[in-house]
Amino acid sequence: MTNLLGMTKKDLEEYFEQIDEKKYKATQVFEWLYQKRVFDIDSFSNIKKEIREQLKKDFTLDFIKIEKRQEDHLTYKYLFRLLDDEFIEAVVMMHDYGTSICVSSQVGCNMGCRFCESGRLKKVRNLNAYEIVEQILLVEKDLGKRISSVVIMGIGEPLDNYDNIISFIEIINDAKGIAIGARHITLSTCGLVPKILELSKIPIQINLAISFHAPTDELRSKLMPVNKVYSIDTLIRAIKDYLQVTSRRVTIEYVMLNNVNDSIECARKLADLFRGMNIYVNLIPYNETNHFEFSRSSKENIKKFYDTLKKEGINVTVRKEFGGNIDAACGQLRGREIG
Ligand code: SAH
Repeated sequence: MTNLLGMTKKDLEEYFEQIDEKKYKATQVFEWLYQKRVFDIDSFSNIKKEIREQLKKDFTLDFIKIEKRQEDHLTYKYLFRLLDDEFIEAVVMMHDYGTSICVSSQVGCNMGCRFCESGRLKKVRNLNAYEIVEQILLVEKDLGKRISSVVIMGIGEPLDNYDNIISFIEIINDAKGIAIGARHITLSTCGLVPKILELSKIPIQINLAISFHAPTDELRSKLMPVNKVYSIDTLIRAIKDYLQVTSRRVTIEYVMLNNVNDSIECARKLADLFRGMNIYVNLIPYNETNHFEFSRSSKENIKKFYDTLKKEGINVTVRKEFGGNIDAACGQLRGREIG
């Protein structure tokens, strides 16, 4: 059965039409769920009993569970237990401008990036839209705070779970839903080219981030097996198309791996690839884990890389670090111990 929290307003409108009811009931349901935060269908008092009974027959309203919460300064890491006893994680960061959440999109991940903890567990399954929506609802209730921005950068490759991710985005962006503005939603992908092109056409103008991490095919294929399917050339062409269709600046993520991809030569090559494009490079200091041989670039190397990009005319920032002490930083989420 479908969980009501995985339905977009449009899905619900179609549902009500199918059962010969007025479309506006979809808005009423959204108001109960997302504005009043009432999750008991019997309490939807402006919807008549007969329809409530029908809703209860057609939908569930079960919640995933917070299994554990860890805290480190202004960062919280949540471990969630799904209804089938799988585990995922989300990270919440308190900024002075608001509260952001990094949500997971899959149980495990099949992309196999050599430096990422999340990929050590192969994909078990996609998350349904409701399981991603509920990460936000549960955290908001737990912290008594509203989430103001969402990054889809937790466990999983979101574009490998495209339909559910689009439903999730529609639900949280809906003015009658959680009402998070498109400009406060960011999706990060390792570069699934056909899906990037599809994403450029959706009407909600979210931010797109691309995990790039290396300026040559030789190196990128070593670090990210996905590059063997979609090479740098095809990926850059997709980014150009995306820029043309959306006119939205794209973020290029670049994890700084000591002596692997952090030379000045790499910075120059990276600049050559992106010069003149409406992008900025976000340098991510590598978060070390026990399971991989990579180490973090030195402060000096990060500075040199940064300066080189700047000199070459590329906008660049260094990602602020959160959550390292509780393994909540980029690439450290894994859902459960897998040895
Ligand atoms: N699958 C998506 C989103 C998840 S990863 C993607 O690939 O973009 C979020 C970001 O963290 C990616 O840029 C990823 O490459 C990066 N990352 C992975 N492991 C990391 C680590 N150990 N330290 C720092 N960043 C890491």
